[in-house]
Amino acid sequence: MTHTEPPHTLTPTDRTRPRRMKEQASFERSDLESVLDAGFVCHLGVIVDGAPRVLPTVYGRDGGRLYVHGSVASRSLAADPDTEICVTVTHVDGLVLARSVFEHGVNYRSAMVYGVPRVLADDAEKTEALRVLTHHAAPGQWEYARRPDRKELAATTVLELSLEEASVKISAGPPDDGRSPDAQLGRWAGTLPLTSRWGAPTADPLLAPGITAPAHVVARAGTRQG
Ligand SMILES: Cc1cc2nc3c(=O)[nH]c(=O)nc-3n(C[C@H](O)[C@H](O)[C@H](O)COP(=O)(O)OP(=O)(O)OC[C@H]3O[C@@H](n4cnc5c(N)ncnc54)[C@H](O)[C@@H]3O)c2cc1C
Repeated sequence: MTHTEPPHTLTPTDRTRPRRMKEQASFERSDLESVLDAGFVCHLGVIVDGAPRVLPTVYGRDGGRLYVHGSVASRSLAADPDTEICVTVTHVDGLVLARSVFEHGVNYRSAMVYGVPRVLADDAEKTEALRVLTHHAAPGQWEYARRPDRKELAATTVLELSLEEASVKISAGPPDDGRSPDAQLGRWAGTLPLTSRWGAPTADPLLAPGITAPAHVVARAGTRQG
């Protein structure tokens, strides 16, 4: 299937147009892509039997498309052909500790993507989407590990969501009450940054002797995630 290159800016829709804290919104596609590329776990919002359900799950991005996958037995992924879903990705960069509790907040980068997903049926398309997902979460593993066979593909549902309708918000910086009357309280205020990093690889206790961790896994130790 061929896909055209998406435009550089996101077109706001009725539901993606920010109403509150508009200054934190971005309509740059590059911001959307960097939020999506910085993570690999999303929250997938679906309606199941008329009720909302929000499922944490792994995703992958390739150009203007996002992929999520799971078991064919997963009811959350058994989307009706015309049912919309919403995928949210969040990175917490720190706490904003203000003078007043009211002004406390979170520094973050987050994205929300809306749309009707396409359920991939073709084995070649599914395999490519699983390559994208694997590469997104664990670069190098698609080339290193055994790839899915036909039976495993048949047991896997893959949804493709276009990045056409999406919103991005980025919140950064110090508390807002430095010039307010609360500044006279003499209380400390500022930010408490939060970062996560990959640890050293831990070998499977059942690993046969002599098998060492591949370079692409070792290289991630100590690097930042998110
Ligand atoms: C880690 C984290 C913690 C937060 N904690 C709080 C909290 O405790 N209280 C609080 O009020 N808000 C919090 N927010 C902000 C919250 O996500 C909303 O942006 C905010 O509450 C405004 O919501 P709204 O529905 O009134 O926005 P509106 O401006 O009405 O939203 C319009 C549209 O903007 C888009 N949008 C809104 N928020 C986001 C977002 N965060 N990321 C991407 N697109 C978005 C959506 O497409 C939405 O439909 C938090 C955000 C993050 C990431």
